[in-house]
Amino acid sequence: MIDSNKINSNNKWKGFKDFLVYKTVKEDEVVTSFYLKSLDGSKLPEFIAGQFITVRIKNEDNTFTKPRQYTLSMNSNEEFYRISVKREENGYLSKKLCDEIKAGDNLQITAPLGNFILKDSEKPLVLIGGGIGITPMLTMAYDAVNSDRKIHFIYSIPNSTHHSFKEETVKLHNNNFKSNVFYTRPKENEKLGKDFDVQGRISEKWMIDNLPKDGDFYFCGPVPFMKTVYHNLISMAIEKENINFEMFEAGVDITKE
Ligand SMILES: Cc1cc2nc3c(=O)[nH]c(=O)nc-3n(C[C@H](O)[C@H](O)[C@H](O)COP(=O)(O)OP(=O)(O)OC[C@H]3O[C@@H](n4cnc5c(N)ncnc54)[C@H](O)[C@@H]3O)c2cc1C
Repeated sequence: MIDSNKINSNNKWKGFKDFLVYKTVKEDEVVTSFYLKSLDGSKLPEFIAGQFITVRIKNEDNTFTKPRQYTLSMNSNEEFYRISVKREENGYLSKKLCDEIKAGDNLQITAPLGNFILKDSEKPLVLIGGGIGITPMLTMAYDAVNSDRKIHFIYSIPNSTHHSFKEETVKLHNNNFKSNVFYTRPKENEKLGKDFDVQGRISEKWMIDNLPKDGDFYFCGPVPFMKTVYHNLISMAIEKENINFEMFEAGVDITKE
């Protein structure tokens, strides 16, 4: 349910504001979560599941790094925000964040914004995340899990070394919440049915057999993953108005073959 007060909250600040990193959690081999509190102790404005903040770091010479966007990965609360960052080996800010930023450091962030949010609907909700693209799916799942909506939560990763938020998502399970974890490259000791639910990539056949045709679909992940999911949905004759996605990388059109 969209609450316009959350978009136009009075607490929202303009530009960048100093935040304290009060905790970091390594979610898997490449993803670190940063828990952020306002330095001035003020309560945080509510955000809408799926929204992001822009982050930059102050350098020692008082200049700033280039900014990057990170989706909020924990449901909205007044005390803290959480972002979860995938370390890109050749990346500029993600590497710096994951390698150098520790509890007690400061980051500068903007207030949350973004239009990749749940539309008002009672239809079954299908959330499909590939790799770090799981972050908006997670907050959307938190948002919808206490409603009567049926939720299909699909998470595709190579194997357990990239399996972030495992315990957290297990806690979301209830009668309305169905989860399917895909491992594309399971390790020898990882067992189908125990460690993961489906082996391989998300295929059109799997989507036809397992997902509702009358659902609202939201997805995010690496470009090849997004292209596959998008074109599978089109092949399934899902109306474009029910297909929603967020790109983490600029300048790519996934709707083209
Ligand atoms: C709305 C939105 C939400 C987002 N949410 C998240 C999130 O929740 N979590 C998250 O981790 N990311 C998220 N991102 C992506 C994030 O903003 C950054 O783009 C990402 O962290 C990479 O930034 P970077 O500065 O480390 O990499 P950049 O330096 O910007 O590089 C981008 C990519 O190019 C590659 N690259 C860089 N240099 C080279 C080179 N010389 N040769 C070859 N390849 C190279 C890097 O490996 C990287 O994959 C989001 C993006 C958007 C737009």
